[in-house]
Amino acid sequence: MADTPAPVIDKDALKQRYAEEREKRIRADGNDQYQELKGQFAHYAGDPYTAFTERDPVTDHVTFAFVGGGFAGLVTGARLKEAGIDDVRLIEKGGDFGGTWYWNRYPGAQCDTASMIYMPLLEETGHMPSEKYAHGPEIRQHCVRIAKQFGLYEHALFHTEVEQIRWDDDGKVWEIATNRGDRFTASFVGMGTGPLHVPKLPGIPGIENFRGHSFHTSRWDYDYTGGDADGAPMTKLADKRVAIIGTGATSVQCVPHLARACKRLYVFQRTPSSVDVRDNRPIDPDWFGEIATPGWQDRWLENFTANQGGLTMEDDWVMDGWTEISRRVRTKIMQLPPGDMTIEKMMAVYEDSDFEKMEEIRRRAEAVVNDPGTAEKLKAWYRQLCKRPCFHDDYLLAFNEPATVLVDTDGKGVERITETGVVAGGNEYEVDCIIYASGFEVGTEWTRRSGFDLQGRDGLKLSGHWSKGMRTLHGVHVHGFPNAFFVQPTQGANLISNVPHNLTEAGRSIGMIVAEALKRGAQEVEVTAEAEQKWIEMLLTAPDRLIGGPDCTPGYYNNEGQPRGPEDKLNFVGYPAGALAYFKYLKEWRNSGEFKGLEFR
Ligand code: NDP
Repeated sequence: MADTPAPVIDKDALKQRYAEEREKRIRADGNDQYQELKGQFAHYAGDPYTAFTERDPVTDHVTFAFVGGGFAGLVTGARLKEAGIDDVRLIEKGGDFGGTWYWNRYPGAQCDTASMIYMPLLEETGHMPSEKYAHGPEIRQHCVRIAKQFGLYEHALFHTEVEQIRWDDDGKVWEIATNRGDRFTASFVGMGTGPLHVPKLPGIPGIENFRGHSFHTSRWDYDYTGGDADGAPMTKLADKRVAIIGTGATSVQCVPHLARACKRLYVFQRTPSSVDVRDNRPIDPDWFGEIATPGWQDRWLENFTANQGGLTMEDDWVMDGWTEISRRVRTKIMQLPPGDMTIEKMMAVYEDSDFEKMEEIRRRAEAVVNDPGTAEKLKAWYRQLCKRPCFHDDYLLAFNEPATVLVDTDGKGVERITETGVVAGGNEYEVDCIIYASGFEVGTEWTRRSGFDLQGRDGLKLSGHWSKGMRTLHGVHVHGFPNAFFVQPTQGANLISNVPHNLTEAGRSIGMIVAEALKRGAQEVEVTAEAEQKWIEMLLTAPDRLIGGPDCTPGYYNNEGQPRGPEDKLNFVGYPAGALAYFKYLKEWRNSGEFKGLEFR
């Protein structure tokens, strides 16, 4: 693609098309169009992977309790263990460690960010990723590897959901209650519940009436489909008509596998994803041996982050679709005359670059898909960062398979589900199975998604403290909630192209802070109200984010296209100077040993 001549672009026509396509998809019900997996839909949320085992409730005390056994919990737990804290308890609703990689075992599940920077603690564990973009089973195994190496299984509680966390100011401990009857205390707590862990179903009329088989992609039913998460073919689908609803990043990865396995596959599309080149390849052990010298992963992380933002031209080691976005914009900006280096001019350059990129992606659909009508419907008409960019070499090809039928709904979505099939555009498609690739809750409150409200000092509820938007220092520390730490990207680096980097840095800080508290004999460590307020004021000077702007087609990046209150900026803002500057700042902050803004008592 890079060698083909740049297309002639009619920017006004494109802008108008983008606006029309957006208009088709805007709905008044926003996030409420989806339904929760509760009540009659609760069975969609079960765990198909690990048998539930009875156990006695725990009633002990641990130094550190962490909610969530995904990357956030694992990297924080590892740093705490390194800091000499032995009794670290991870509490996890799944049957093992892995978080998103525990649940998402759909065929073809694969990381969209290069393994060298995506998979945490590679250097510490000595693991060499097998591919540039590792597949799900390898990443899940890596989670187990981290947990084993750092002794995190010892105190872990699986198939356990936290129901309450309350600060006891007399005892200076957190009291934790779970749905398994556990009632224990912890000196410190961490929250790593993840951004995309509550699956949702589309609110399609009649969904409850379907008599065939159905499941959500994050609870893949291999008993029904045959095959397994490691890639064994889904032989039981050979005589099945299957509908998959949704064409986001998940669907893009599993459709090629379904297309090969099903008798008939109907792909129900409301909005096409932009699907760029993947170009995956094995990692060469000789090459890895040469580069994997002490400190290598930090250097790679820094290189990727530098290439994601900023105007400096660095060697791009990762060279993927994410760095390409920045590389293109940067190249154009560098060509601007010095007097034109204004924010407006740079934003215009960015828009031009985006038009070009999206034209290339649309032309790719034409080049790959045999049927011109189908290719046309697979074209995405919005800016690349309006929706999660996808990268895949087989997705578009799957529409050349004889079994695959694209059912494009022209932005309207599936109309209805009947006892025997799916209705779209007035036509009923009879199917044996419906697979919901309908994503996860994003725009709802943190307390709803995590399933509990944190109760801090003097009965202060987290939902109350955050009622006018999230408030933290570094996205980690919250005033009124001593000895509590949040491990997530917002109000920190907010680096969305490599989410684990946010987590590993937070984990490093937390390990050092807890060690410092124990060294000082402090019972409490808490951000001061002033430091939290100062951080918030600084964050509010950040420019509006580039992803999911208000002109974008609806999706979870922009609250389904619904306007948000002014305070909502706090729920997605990052360090104004960018991720690279944030990580540098954070390193200096913690290495100084002062932990400015925190009070140790
Ligand atoms: P998404 O929320 O991205 O996709 C949901 C899909 O369901 C959309 O295509 C949506 O259409 C469609 N949909 C919803 N309602 C209807 C309806 N009534 N009729 C028809 N279609 C409907 O979920 P995913 O699980 O695909 O991805 C979620 C996120 O998980 C990704 O954005 C990414 O961040 C992450 N992920 C990462 C991966 C990786 O790194 N490899 C792989 C997979 C996921 P519409 O677009 O119109 O709303």
